[in-house]
Amino acid sequence: MPAPRTPSGHVRSWYADTANPHPRHPALDGDLRCDVCVVGGGYTGLTAALELAEHGFDVVLLEARRVGWGASGRNGGQIITGYNKSMAAIESMVGKEDARSLWDLGEEAKAMLAARVERHRIACDLTWGYAYAAVKPRHLRDVDDMVEEMRGRYGYDGVRRLDRAEMEELVASRSYIGGLHDSGSGHLHPLNYALGLADACQAAGVRIFEETPVTRIDTGPEPRAETAAGTVRAKFLVLGGNAYLGRVAPALETTIMPVATYVVATEPLGEERAASLLPTNIAVSDMNFVLNYFRRSSDHRLLFGGGVSYSGLDQPGLKAVLRAKMLAVFPQLRGVAVEQCWGGNVAITMNRLPQLGRLSPTVYFAHGYSGHGVALTGIAGRTIAEAIRGTAERFDVFARIPHHAFPGGRRLRTPALVLAMLWFRMRDLL
Ligand SMILES: Cc1cc2nc3c(=O)[nH]c(=O)nc-3n(C[C@H](O)[C@H](O)[C@H](O)COP(=O)(O)OP(=O)(O)OC[C@H]3O[C@@H](n4cnc5c(N)ncnc54)[C@H](O)[C@@H]3O)c2cc1C
Repeated sequence: MPAPRTPSGHVRSWYADTANPHPRHPALDGDLRCDVCVVGGGYTGLTAALELAEHGFDVVLLEARRVGWGASGRNGGQIITGYNKSMAAIESMVGKEDARSLWDLGEEAKAMLAARVERHRIACDLTWGYAYAAVKPRHLRDVDDMVEEMRGRYGYDGVRRLDRAEMEELVASRSYIGGLHDSGSGHLHPLNYALGLADACQAAGVRIFEETPVTRIDTGPEPRAETAAGTVRAKFLVLGGNAYLGRVAPALETTIMPVATYVVATEPLGEERAASLLPTNIAVSDMNFVLNYFRRSSDHRLLFGGGVSYSGLDQPGLKAVLRAKMLAVFPQLRGVAVEQCWGGNVAITMNRLPQLGRLSPTVYFAHGYSGHGVALTGIAGRTIAEAIRGTAERFDVFARIPHHAFPGGRRLRTPALVLAMLWFRMRDLL
């Protein structure tokens, strides 16, 4: 079922309802030339475009729908330290030296997000403070490992272990037996962050076209992006379509899997009641494999996300499922109405690390942030811009991460993943 859209063309959500005023960019009509053509108006495309324009490149950005229409305008808004894998796992994939560089790039990703928000005065409710909530004793052992790894081995002092009582002071729920507090992770209004980046792009000279799906690309020495009403010829293309790129670059389809995840927004709870749930206004994620995540909104609702769907459940069904999950964590919200439910596709990779690379010497791509894209997209955009400017060292650290196609190819990867997830869901229950 296609997601319901607002009159402005964004997916209906609390974010779309509270979006800052934003211009409508024209659709492409005619042929253009530029230095770099960026496909996709999410964080990846927007940051790549902005970093390039700031260094004097003539950039055209083509977005199939509206800026922030994809995951960047619908996500949980959680800015998360590091990657979807432990550093020990990353070391085993890429070696200690590259793992150290990846850690540093992850830290830079959060810092550059904060700097962008400040520099461009993006009103997106940026708030720091985050907790991983332990549900089971084995999660507490994971917390110890995380503290040892991040604080002990990577010198990151933002994290501390929480016992049950400390956790309950941060999250008014009996569901958790402890956790990890991270002062260097946080949350924001995702769509307003994307719209703010788009404004910054425009101010830097990027020509943005919306409602302009790219239907074909040429990856040769003189690359181009074709649309129904015009072609953009450029020296370089950057593909930032992530889970929504579809058949434009078939080579990119096999290494990511689009997985639907959903968020609900309660009715406004009032400041006092919202604050009673999360007194320090942190964002929270539990530590199950199929996880729940939640936080307060600026107008005192609870935004609660979780669950994955491969079966195309309808929206009312999802709303009820998520509401039940929310009430399991916060039974004190019984009787509170859930006003909105929306979803989007997260692009995951087999190893759950982002994939950055080149389709040819003139065509770059980044995707597959595996649930950590709010922060990591920025550094992906920056390192792609560096590579196009002629310094590919940091881009190549990402590009060296080994990636594999999902078993089953494009058609059978979903059933294969469903089976794998079923196993993890059962493990969550143990
Ligand atoms: C419900 C949900 C919750 C999430 N929660 C979190 C979270 O809390 N923290 C976190 O770090 N990450 C989270 N994520 C993931 C995060 O949102 C993404 O990693 C990130 O937004 C990816 O940005 P992107 O620019 O690469 O892709 P997108 O934001 O998806 O942008 C891709 C854009 O490309 C456009 N496009 C695609 N194909 C074409 C084409 N052919 N022509 C023109 N344009 C095209 C699309 O229309 C789209 O606007 C979540 C994702 C979802 C869906």
